[in-house]
Amino acid sequence: MGFAEIIIDHKSSSVDKRFTYNIPSDLENQAKLGVRVVVPFGRYNKPIMGIIVEMKDDSSISYKTKDIIQVLDDKPLISEKKIILANWIKEEYLCTGYESMQPMLPPGDFRDITTMVVPGESLNNFNNHSEEEKIILSEVSNASKIEYTELQNICQNKDFNKLISSLEEEGSIKLVLDIRKTSTSRVEKIVIRNQTVSFDKGVEIIGNSAKKQLKIWTLFKGTNEIAANEILKQLNTSLSVLKAMETKNLVLIENRIVNETPVSKDIPEYLKIELNTDQKRVYEGICHSNNNISLIHGITGSGKTEIYLQLVEDMLRNGKDSIILVPEISLTPQTIDRFVGRFGNQVAILHSKLTQLERFDQWRRIKTGEYKIVVGARSALFAPFNNLGLIVIDEEHENTYKSSNNPKYDTIDVAIRISELENSKLVLGTATPSIETYYRTEIGEYSLYELQNRATRNSLPSINVVDMRDELQEGNRSIFSKILYQEMVNALDNGNQIILFLNKRGYTGFITCRSCGYVSKCDNCDISLTYHKSTNRLRCHYCGDTHTLPSSCPACGSNYFKSFGIGTERVEEEVRKLFPDAKTLRMDSDMIKSREDYEKALDSMKNNEVDILVGTQMISKGLDFPRVTLVGIIAADTTLNLPDFRSPERTFQLVTQVAGRAGRGDIAGNVILQTYNPDHYSITTAMTNDYKLFYSNESQLRKEFGYPPYKGIATVTLFGKNQLHVKESMEESALELQKHIKNEKLVSIDVLGPNPAPLERINNNYRWQILLKFGYNDSKLIKNIINRVYNKDKGKIKHDDIKISIDINPSSIL
Ligand code: ADP
Ligand code: ZN
Ligand code: ZN
Repeated sequence: MGFAEIIIDHKSSSVDKRFTYNIPSDLENQAKLGVRVVVPFGRYNKPIMGIIVEMKDDSSISYKTKDIIQVLDDKPLISEKKIILANWIKEEYLCTGYESMQPMLPPGDFRDITTMVVPGESLNNFNNHSEEEKIILSEVSNASKIEYTELQNICQNKDFNKLISSLEEEGSIKLVLDIRKTSTSRVEKIVIRNQTVSFDKGVEIIGNSAKKQLKIWTLFKGTNEIAANEILKQLNTSLSVLKAMETKNLVLIENRIVNETPVSKDIPEYLKIELNTDQKRVYEGICHSNNNISLIHGITGSGKTEIYLQLVEDMLRNGKDSIILVPEISLTPQTIDRFVGRFGNQVAILHSKLTQLERFDQWRRIKTGEYKIVVGARSALFAPFNNLGLIVIDEEHENTYKSSNNPKYDTIDVAIRISELENSKLVLGTATPSIETYYRTEIGEYSLYELQNRATRNSLPSINVVDMRDELQEGNRSIFSKILYQEMVNALDNGNQIILFLNKRGYTGFITCRSCGYVSKCDNCDISLTYHKSTNRLRCHYCGDTHTLPSSCPACGSNYFKSFGIGTERVEEEVRKLFPDAKTLRMDSDMIKSREDYEKALDSMKNNEVDILVGTQMISKGLDFPRVTLVGIIAADTTLNLPDFRSPERTFQLVTQVAGRAGRGDIAGNVILQTYNPDHYSITTAMTNDYKLFYSNESQLRKEFGYPPYKGIATVTLFGKNQLHVKESMEESALELQKHIKNEKLVSIDVLGPNPAPLERINNNYRWQILLKFGYNDSKLIKNIINRVYNKDKGKIKHDDIKISIDINPSSIL
């Protein structure tokens, strides 16, 4: 007799528990890892649904357990390997069991899924079957589609599952997954903006007190329709808020029937390119290496994508599946076009804009092998392939690969675990490897392949650094240095395109009073507000709240306001002033709200309808426009001054990536980099395109100050509305943590803090933090301790109006 551990209900994720149930003998054949079951729960034995996540034999259970009532699937909904993976994620990132399962589960509510039995191709002759089989076959052929569980009830046979398997094998029946509430879930609520109301008018109608409505209204800037579910999820609000806006005549809520397969635009075929000798060396190396993990360190435009494509082709030939991860699906249309253009309908594109039903449909088709290739953002890593051969992580250095919600997993580390479980290859690609990744090539964990030339045989653009302090001394108060201005004139004269990059949106940075020093800050966050000229409002870039621009200082009444810093809106305005005849386009998240907006912008760039493109990091990656000859980096320092140990790395990456947009065609590219820190090693090494020198500088510092890859780090952040409660809870729990560390004699561990987090207040939540640094040998022990204090003994934390965020190897410590 056996037992099964089951995960149930996802609503009460604060209670992280598995429940043990007895497997009655008549279900022995059916109960296995990853299948869904119905079990009696609670005092009144209410039947509920769960998933088996561990099988146990009787010797380990001494207490009385209840029986499983029913098994709902013939095959595991979640593969055994994925369950092993979930358990690993739980240990590694200290989340709850249910959270660790979440990425593996089918989209939507797993309880709505049903296994259906339908006639197979060879269902015509009942005669050569046993009596038991005949019952099944006649039921299936009569009903033409019947629920697995219903059939099970009709048959009442102990060997039901065996019978089903053999009938499926011979082709008499087929089993397919479906969503039970099909008729209702094909309808989706769509919120449509009333276009006769201007944005500002809407703000007025909503008024100042209805903050949620204001946030929703802001979402409609630049787009007219959003799925209600999307809004509710994004802003964590309820349908009643939308209904209230409907009565104010700001929006209309419509029920719309959605198509099963999303319509996609026609993508032209992308023909295979013969690899050059450099690419071939890398391709062959990866194919024949004994090491499953490789890094392709190739400069921008070196033809990494073509290598990925041919590796995928190789997998197809061997009947294996591939997963391609990109940093952000909406910002990488060119990569998607190449994969779809080459492999057509074997590719599933996983993006978050799909409806629940569409997402489920894709999940099902991946599971049944209809798709062989998946392209998507980090969560595509969990695609339910049965025969995975390859994972590619493009632009592996991007911070979108670290999840910021539970489970707060690191995509590369999870991919390594998957490649171990599936024995598949893992290929990381980038022009600017993260320090951690490059370190692992140094110690031999990953194989390193380098591409130092552009595939098109063009050279990398030259980078000229301009010290903006000199410009100021020479009396140039413009945001453009003399040389940048001159180069812009030249590029326009020659009919070429220009990209201007600044990693800050809005018109100006913060606004301050010259008389008393007052700085306008957000009411909800400890963050200075950014002025947006187009809406004539001050906006918080953390919580999205907007405020009117005061005409005099709220603190002292003085009229002397001065703004510091500039944003893309201002850059665009200056460009239009200086070059009134040039066609200028701005791309930042104020302008680009959807994938459609983004694609439209790229199209106009492609069709030469744009001379000067101004943008934020949104334009830093992936773009391949042959007519861009000049890239101007307005201020390279925007990321450098953030109080985060990854700031130099971010700066190097951004500069290199943006510079890489220049000179991709036949004409040589030129980059002008403006900075106030021309001697910083991030800038000087980016200028000479010397990654290795940057790496040696940066890794030296990381070693000295005990940061990854030399030491592991973890942060624990407590947050809540009551400042004192947060502080006290953090201080007390930190003492507890220290006590455990002392008891375990963990000398390698540094505890920094508790301190207020660098961003102490976000969205009216006060935040206190401790930062732990530890030797990797102690990482298991330290995680146990954190888990003890902040998960298991959570109830002992001084105040209960506190939320806890644990982040292992966080991508940012702000
Ligand atoms: P990366 O991904 O390394 O930035 P891409 O894959 O975008 O580089 O390649 C840059 C350009 O070089 C693309 O336009 C691509 O079509 C072209 N390219 C790639 N491989 C070759 C090759 N072997 N011969 C000629 N052109 C190539
Ligand atoms: Zn003042
Ligand atoms: Zn704010």
